[in-house]
Amino acid sequence: MADTSHLDWPFLDDAHRDLAGRIAAWAEAEIAPIPDDEGAHDDAALDAACRALVAKLADGGWLGYCVPAPHGGHFERIDVRNLCLIRETLAYHSALADFSFIMQGLGSGPISLFGSDEQKAAFLPGVAAGERIAAFALSEPDSGSDVAAMKTEAVADGDDYVLNGAKTLISNAGIADQYTVIARTGEAPGGRGLVGATASGRSAEVGEARPGRSRSRRARYRRSSHR
Ligand SMILES: Cc1cc2nc3c(=O)[nH]c(=O)nc-3n(C[C@H](O)[C@H](O)[C@H](O)COP(=O)(O)OP(=O)(O)OC[C@H]3O[C@@H](n4cnc5c(N)ncnc54)[C@H](O)[C@@H]3O)c2cc1C
Repeated sequence: MADTSHLDWPFLDDAHRDLAGRIAAWAEAEIAPIPDDEGAHDDAALDAACRALVAKLADGGWLGYCVPAPHGGHFERIDVRNLCLIRETLAYHSALADFSFIMQGLGSGPISLFGSDEQKAAFLPGVAAGERIAAFALSEPDSGSDVAAMKTEAVADGDDYVLNGAKTLISNAGIADQYTVIARTGEAPGGRGLVGATASGRSAEVGEARPGRSRSRRARYRRSSHR
């Protein structure tokens, strides 16, 4: 049994304690790590396990903590303490369950926080329902924690922006239905002039381009973020 004494800390209230009890009971019954001999190191098996976990987390109602109401979420604002309580319990049982949960939140987070009503309605309900798998593409081969060094460009093309660049270490790449891609508009150097664009579509569409050069013709550009 994990130590739960932190649930008495003053910044957690009864609703948090109730949530911690519910996710603990649910995870105990529903979540088990993938045994080593059942494809824990096989990419296809892991992809399938990840999809199954996202569906299961949606069924349990847990993805409703990753997005705001009224777009499939339980509350108007995402409560980070709820996310922490859910994550620690999922991770206790299975690292992949924690990963599957939080990537739904991270991959859709910029839309929840800064997206237009149209974007929220288009992308968030599917994330909460486990029908759309989300990814977040920030890191590049030559810019990890030094985000200001990123090179991926967002180039205006009619109503859309075309993304040109290379991303790396992107969780859910290959199975995601939507990618929030951080890219450079060229309007300012360094940490300025960066935008979050939402690229919709299976990764096959995004990954079609030559190695080292990923494109999405349907990237949507939202001016209000990362200025
Ligand atoms: C399993 C996994 C999943 C990931 N998923 C995603 C994802 O979904 N999307 C995404 O965008 N990225 C993802 N990443 C990338 C990750 O979030 C980091 O951005 C990336 O690992 C850091 O970049 P880097 O490896 O190039 O290290 P670097 O940024 O080159 O850092 C190397 C080392 O230098 C240290 N360092 C860096 N800058 C400084 C400084 N100024 N002062 C002192 N020390 C410093 C760092 O702490 C580190 O120890 C993932 C990484 C992993 C391992």
